[in-house]
Amino acid sequence: MKPTIIIGGGIVGLFSAYFLQKEGIEVTLIDRTDLKDNCSTGNAGMIVPSHIIPLAAPGMISKGIGWMFSSKSPFYIHPRLDYKLAQWCLLFFKAANEKQVKRAIPFLKNLSLLSKALYSEFKVEHPDAAIALVEKGLMMAYQTESVEKEEIEFAHLARKYGLEAEILNQADIKKVEPNLDLKVRGAVLFPGDAHLDPGALYGFLKNYLEAKGVKFHYNTQVLGFEKRGSKVEAVLTDQGKFEAEKVLLCGGSWSGELGKMLGFSLPMMGGKGYSFIQENRPEIKQATILTEMKVAVSPYGNQVRFGGTMEIAGTNQSINLNRVKGIFESINRYYPDFESKFPQENQIWKGLRPCSPDGLPYIGFAPGTTNVLVGSGHGMMGISLAPATGKILSQLHQQKDASIAIQGFEVGRFA
Ligand SMILES: Cc1cc2nc3c(=O)[nH]c(=O)nc-3n(C[C@H](O)[C@H](O)[C@H](O)COP(=O)(O)OP(=O)(O)OC[C@H]3O[C@@H](n4cnc5c(N)ncnc54)[C@H](O)[C@@H]3O)c2cc1C
Repeated sequence: MKPTIIIGGGIVGLFSAYFLQKEGIEVTLIDRTDLKDNCSTGNAGMIVPSHIIPLAAPGMISKGIGWMFSSKSPFYIHPRLDYKLAQWCLLFFKAANEKQVKRAIPFLKNLSLLSKALYSEFKVEHPDAAIALVEKGLMMAYQTESVEKEEIEFAHLARKYGLEAEILNQADIKKVEPNLDLKVRGAVLFPGDAHLDPGALYGFLKNYLEAKGVKFHYNTQVLGFEKRGSKVEAVLTDQGKFEAEKVLLCGGSWSGELGKMLGFSLPMMGGKGYSFIQENRPEIKQATILTEMKVAVSPYGNQVRFGGTMEIAGTNQSINLNRVKGIFESINRYYPDFESKFPQENQIWKGLRPCSPDGLPYIGFAPGTTNVLVGSGHGMMGISLAPATGKILSQLHQQKDASIAIQGFEVGRFA
């Protein structure tokens, strides 16, 4: 029997391998890098069932236009002559309406809740994983009246969909963040959210899968496929040919190129973001989003990670220090007493979020094929949604029904 080949060893590829090997399926994982660093290793590690609104939402267009004029803003599209970017933006604008958002919410919510439950199971099954899953919720802290209004409206919407949301005043905030002042008007706490250390999770999964017999081929770039009719028989790489029973495309921001090799359209842009770690002094305790600046704050005891910015960048991986400064300056704007120190360039982590134009992932069979599955396009929520994606792909792989409805994630919706 030939193995199932997974292309891409980010968190989605690893969780897919995890659930497939649990079912006794032979898995080979191919990645063009040495897997020391990709978008899955240095992100903010937030598990966010509260994020039920996709990136392509009505307010984003007007905000995005305002942000385009600031080099330190949280969202940016570098205007350039690029057909792929133009096509992606057009699809984004088309999706950013209330009807599409309303349709997306139940799909995203159920995928997130499935993932959260799988993380809780994972924590019990692997108490040695040291992933530091902190189940203390996520606080959305705001400084301005306009964002306060948006966040409180959103809290009511989240409750309508059955999610817990608490509106916090200054005294409540002091209870969750006792060691230092937060310069905010208020905050909303989503107690069902959590955060973890993405690097620890990633390292654990990789070692675990290797020990379980998953074969990893590093520094191996996929260049094409050998097909017979609608079936892919082999994956062609710069290191030779890999025969395959089935194939999973989990190539993150590069998945569009893999789709193209197979003859279907999978619009995708890399949404570049940065993070850096600081000594946690005075200690921040609560995972928080500094809402106006869209900066994520993930505390891990004596260290804390700050991450943010979304620059629609294709697959360009250069570091723009102005964007990093935007994140850095947010720290003392919200936590005036925090002892922040601008990171050296080699301490700045960068990653490309795989962004589909409608803000929903692609999960399911690839159009025109009978043995290719896709798990990609998770944008800002790949860590959050990877376990559910892996679980669903393993169910589809075995010709079973997915445990939740997945029509919203149809791979061929733009093909
Ligand atoms: C600053 C920042 C903060 C974030 N915070 C959060 C958060 O708090 N919570 C959350 O849920 N998400 C967060 N994210 C998003 C999350 O990191 C991503 O959604 C997730 O890592 C994507 O995982 P992936 O497996 O799809 O892609 P990747 O991790 O990019 O992996 C894709 C892999 O495919 C390989 N590949 C591609 N093409 C080929 C090819 N042709 N041949 C061989 N290999 C190939 C690549 O080398 C790569 O290793 C954040 C992202 C950033 C940048």
